[in-house]
Amino acid sequence: MPFCRSVALDIAVAYDAFYYDDDQELTAYIWHNYRNLLTPLEALAERTLLAESKAQHTSDRMAAILRERWVAMDDPDVAAALAGGSDVFRNRVRERILKECDKQIVINRCPQCSRLVATPKAHQCLWCGHDWH
Ligand SMILES: [Zn+2]
Repeated sequence: MPFCRSVALDIAVAYDAFYYDDDQELTAYIWHNYRNLLTPLEALAERTLLAESKAQHTSDRMAAILRERWVAMDDPDVAAALAGGSDVFRNRVRERILKECDKQIVINRCPQCSRLVATPKAHQCLWCGHDWH
């Protein structure tokens, strides 16, 4: 399958209204659009999650380098933050950001289907196709 067709299918599946989960989408929306509101510890824990994820899908040599340079599980605060797993960590950070930074957050929902759109400034819904430019 050509690359661009594969990407188009991935996007179609990612925005399939049948699979919409508001809680999951809210977490993704906050993480995608408000990464600047992470605390230093949260950013370090996120970097650890990403590096460990990459380490699990590469050569042993590259995995060792990634873990040495980017995984911070030897930091007790990072280990504690990630003790419940990545989903628990990301949901907890989402709740903290929504509570502590509510004045900086814009939750942008489609006026037609009420689903979360991609960004705070988006004027098009990738779920239902509505466009309010
Ligand atoms: Zn919509």
